[in-house]
Amino acid sequence: MSNAPELLMKLQHAIQDTDEGAPCEGRDLLFFPEGHESVVKMAILEAKAICRRCPFLQLCGQYALAADEPYGIWAGMTYEERRAIKRG
Ligand code: SF4
Repeated sequence: MSNAPELLMKLQHAIQDTDEGAPCEGRDLLFFPEGHESVVKMAILEAKAICRRCPFLQLCGQYALAADEPYGIWAGMTYEERRAIKRG
Protein backbone atom coordinates (compact mmCIF):
# COMPACT_ATOMS: atom_id res chain seq x y z
CA MET A 1 0.00 0.00 0.00
CA SER A 2 1.27 3.48 -0.89
CA ASN A 3 2.40 5.80 1.86
CA ALA A 4 1.58 8.79 -0.34
CA PRO A 5 -1.08 10.28 2.00
CA GLU A 6 1.35 10.24 4.92
CA LEU A 7 4.13 11.79 2.81
CA LEU A 8 1.76 14.46 1.51
CA MET A 9 0.80 15.37 5.05
CA LYS A 10 4.47 15.59 6.03
CA LEU A 11 5.19 17.77 3.03
CA GLN A 12 2.26 20.07 3.74
CA HIS A 13 3.26 20.41 7.39
CA ALA A 14 6.87 21.13 6.50
CA ILE A 15 5.74 23.85 4.09
CA GLN A 16 3.25 25.30 6.57
CA ASP A 17 6.00 25.49 9.20
CA THR A 18 7.89 28.06 7.14
CA ASP A 19 7.08 31.72 6.64
CA GLU A 20 7.92 31.58 2.95
CA GLY A 21 5.91 28.57 1.81
CA ALA A 22 7.02 26.45 -1.10
CA PRO A 23 8.82 28.21 -3.97
CA CYS A 24 6.38 26.69 -6.46
CA GLU A 25 3.25 28.07 -4.83
CA GLY A 26 1.26 30.23 -7.22
CA ARG A 27 3.49 29.31 -10.14
CA ASP A 28 1.33 26.83 -12.00
CA LEU A 29 2.39 28.28 -15.35
CA LEU A 30 5.88 26.94 -14.65
CA PHE A 31 5.04 23.79 -12.74
CA PHE A 32 2.04 22.70 -14.81
CA PRO A 33 2.94 24.19 -18.17
CA GLU A 34 0.72 23.98 -21.22
CA GLY A 35 0.84 25.29 -24.74
CA HIS A 36 3.50 25.36 -27.40
CA GLU A 37 6.31 22.85 -26.99
CA SER A 38 9.02 25.52 -26.73
CA VAL A 39 7.07 27.34 -24.02
CA VAL A 40 6.60 24.11 -22.09
CA LYS A 41 10.30 23.28 -22.38
CA MET A 42 11.34 26.68 -21.04
CA ALA A 43 8.87 26.43 -18.17
CA ILE A 44 10.15 22.98 -17.22
CA LEU A 45 13.76 24.20 -17.17
CA GLU A 46 12.81 27.12 -14.94
CA ALA A 47 10.73 24.93 -12.63
CA LYS A 48 13.58 22.45 -12.31
CA ALA A 49 15.97 25.25 -11.35
CA ILE A 50 13.54 26.40 -8.66
CA CYS A 51 13.19 22.86 -7.30
CA ARG A 52 16.96 22.42 -7.06
CA ARG A 53 17.04 25.23 -4.49
CA CYS A 54 13.91 24.13 -2.64
CA PRO A 55 14.26 23.03 0.98
CA PHE A 56 11.45 20.49 0.47
CA LEU A 57 13.06 18.77 -2.51
CA GLN A 58 13.61 15.37 -0.91
CA LEU A 59 10.22 15.08 0.73
CA CYS A 60 8.48 16.40 -2.36
CA GLY A 61 10.19 13.78 -4.50
CA GLN A 62 9.31 10.99 -2.11
CA TYR A 63 5.68 12.05 -2.19
CA ALA A 64 5.49 12.49 -5.97
CA LEU A 65 6.98 9.05 -6.57
CA ALA A 66 4.79 7.37 -3.97
CA ALA A 67 1.66 9.06 -5.32
CA ASP A 68 2.59 8.48 -8.94
CA GLU A 69 1.63 12.10 -9.58
CA PRO A 70 0.54 12.19 -13.22
CA TYR A 71 0.90 15.93 -13.85
CA GLY A 72 3.39 18.68 -13.37
CA ILE A 73 6.93 19.12 -12.15
CA TRP A 74 7.56 17.71 -8.70
CA ALA A 75 11.00 17.80 -7.09
CA GLY A 76 12.50 18.80 -10.40
CA MET A 77 11.07 15.80 -12.22
CA THR A 78 8.61 15.54 -15.06
CA TYR A 79 6.08 12.72 -15.12
CA GLU A 80 8.23 10.80 -17.60
CA GLU A 81 11.28 11.16 -15.35
CA ARG A 82 9.31 9.98 -12.35
CA ARG A 83 8.09 6.97 -14.30
CA ALA A 84 11.65 6.14 -15.35
CA ILE A 85 12.82 6.24 -11.73
CA LYS A 86 9.98 3.99 -10.64
CA ARG A 87 10.77 1.52 -13.40
CA GLY A 88 14.38 1.50 -12.17
S1 SF4 B 1 10.74 20.63 -4.83
FE1 SF4 B 1 9.79 21.87 -6.45
S2 SF4 B 1 7.71 21.08 -6.68
FE2 SF4 B 1 8.53 20.33 -4.71
S3 SF4 B 1 7.84 21.84 -3.17
FE3 SF4 B 1 9.88 22.44 -3.87
S4 SF4 B 1 9.55 23.89 -5.54
FE4 SF4 B 1 7.63 22.78 -5.21
